[in-house]
Amino acid sequence: MASGDARTLTERLPRRHMLKFLGTVPFASPAPLHAEQLQSLAPIIFHAPRILPEVAVSIDDGWHPHLVEQALDILDAFDLKATLFPTGAVVRQNPDLWRRAHAAGHELGNHTFTHRPLPQLTDREILAEIDHTQAAVRDATGSDTPMRLLRPPSMLGFTTWGGDWRIRQVVAERQLRITLWDSASNAVIMPQREDPKAVLAEVAQRARRGSIVLLHFIRDDIQALPLILMYLRRRFRLVTISQLFENVYEYIVEEALNEGVY
Ligand SMILES: [Zn+2]
Repeated sequence: MASGDARTLTERLPRRHMLKFLGTVPFASPAPLHAEQLQSLAPIIFHAPRILPEVAVSIDDGWHPHLVEQALDILDAFDLKATLFPTGAVVRQNPDLWRRAHAAGHELGNHTFTHRPLPQLTDREILAEIDHTQAAVRDATGSDTPMRLLRPPSMLGFTTWGGDWRIRQVVAERQLRITLWDSASNAVIMPQREDPKAVLAEVAQRARRGSIVLLHFIRDDIQALPLILMYLRRRFRLVTISQLFENVYEYIVEEALNEGVY
């Protein structure tokens, strides 16, 4: 291996290796697929490979700006970066708030514009939901780098094995990864419990190496956020979802280079 090479591993290796690696993460399809069909389906991500002691916290929706602000304050106080999935509508209503989130180093992901269930939309409507949200975030943050992650509203279309292939094909046209989770608070389905420890227990039960944690900008989750961050920080490094995959990828490539595989 070229140890004197100043470039990072991801720069040194062709991009297709990265895509191939990410393509291994989604679960298998229920029936065999031809190669070209597989390539046209957006990958589904639940978590990163369980290799590094890292997790990513993600927070969805953002219909209550004061809760978003509170969450950003908490993340600042902990000096931690999260991955946030606001709807495009929410970003258009409060661009300053999301500019702040972007400037603070949080990753932003696409959560559609209107939060309508994707299975009820036509292909063209799904693309419009995606594109309007990319535009809203681009206008708010000033960043030309498109978001790479799509979180489908309420997981609809992805509650069964392999997910909805029509939606996956449409999403693949925009080269987004369908980003789900493997550790979640139940506060969104059982609200008003007023017990941050109960929320923490749900998250802690499933959080392990490579986990993606799901929270929402709702009162119970944001009240529990300091407790959750304290708990996770003692056990893992907290990174954004894209970093979670980049770091594992770099680690695997470094190992492979050391072993002379490449
Ligand atoms: Zn949502």
